[in-house]
Amino acid sequence: MKPVDLRSDTVTRPSAGMQAAMTAAPLGDDVFGDDPSVNALQEKIAAMLGFEAALFVPTGTQSNLCAILSHCQRGDEYIVGQMQHSYRWEAGGGAVFGSVQPQPISHQPDGTLALADIEAAIKPDDPHFARSRMLALENTLGGKLLPFAYVEQATALAKSKGLTTHLDGARLFNAAVAQAAQTGGSATHEARRIAQCFDTVSVCFSKGLGAPVGSALCGSNELIGRARRVRKMAGGAMRQAGVLAAAASYALDHNIERLQEDHDLAMRLARGLQGIEGLVVEPPQTNILFVDLTGSARDQADALLKHLAGQGVMATGLYRLRFVTHLDVDAAGVDRAAAAIRSFFGR
Ligand SMILES: *Cc1c(COP(=O)(O)O)cnc(C)c1O
Repeated sequence: MKPVDLRSDTVTRPSAGMQAAMTAAPLGDDVFGDDPSVNALQEKIAAMLGFEAALFVPTGTQSNLCAILSHCQRGDEYIVGQMQHSYRWEAGGGAVFGSVQPQPISHQPDGTLALADIEAAIKPDDPHFARSRMLALENTLGGKLLPFAYVEQATALAKSKGLTTHLDGARLFNAAVAQAAQTGGSATHEARRIAQCFDTVSVCFSKGLGAPVGSALCGSNELIGRARRVRKMAGGAMRQAGVLAAAASYALDHNIERLQEDHDLAMRLARGLQGIEGLVVEPPQTNILFVDLTGSARDQADALLKHLAGQGVMATGLYRLRFVTHLDVDAAGVDRAAAAIRSFFGR
């Protein structure tokens, strides 16, 4: 039986339609700036999110690195949440390559950084301190949608203190679809509203959008010009990258609105796990479901993961399990995952 792979939304394979778009893509040498498919993608995502320019990069990690090193100089710092990817999961790249110091802040339960904490972290102009240069937020953060009013307030605060702002929007379109469900607006309208609060925005095509590779950093011509140099330095300038850009472009045309299906499936899985003793199921806001094992269920964590693997159900975590829904799982797969967990607990 085909495994139900809920480890991440990065595991999707390009669909037949996407592969056809990749095969048909006109190509050039993007280091010379003449790959038409890369140029078209960059123009499309920049226009969609309301920026002057965009840069296609191989990964979200490199996109965040390009942002940090384009906003900040050696000896500057950026304010960031403890759990944000650009602080915790990127091997300290801003510090290693740019001598840029992160100033991490603890998150509130809803994923936000308290405005008072941000304000307190901004240093005065004093030779004792690193120069506070940038505020970095992430949306969605662990699958949570940052409230839009908060995004407006936090970025306005940063700007009022002379800081620039960067959004790690690896899952910006998941945020936009969830926000659209609240406001009744379209997902692309909401994506643009969120993005326009920031000086730069990074989006991943290789997550829920279903492309095999790639991210884009969006910003002003000046900032993207600087980011282009960082990308070169980091080894991320690619040649006939249009074959990848075409997949990303296809994803923007076909796979945004359907993210709602992934959100619905995460909720379906959450409902399927209700009422099992020792499991605390956090109601998912988008496509990521966290399930905490408590009490005696904790002692069974290893055995549970082995049981799931035996049933062809893949997830990450141990005491805090993470299930991510995406384009390549369906309701039957999610129901199989729920049944495998219930059978383990004898329910
Ligand atoms: C996945 C992810 C990234 C980038 O990941 P890559 O594997 O480098 O493409 C960055 N930020 C967030 C929030 C992510 O989820």
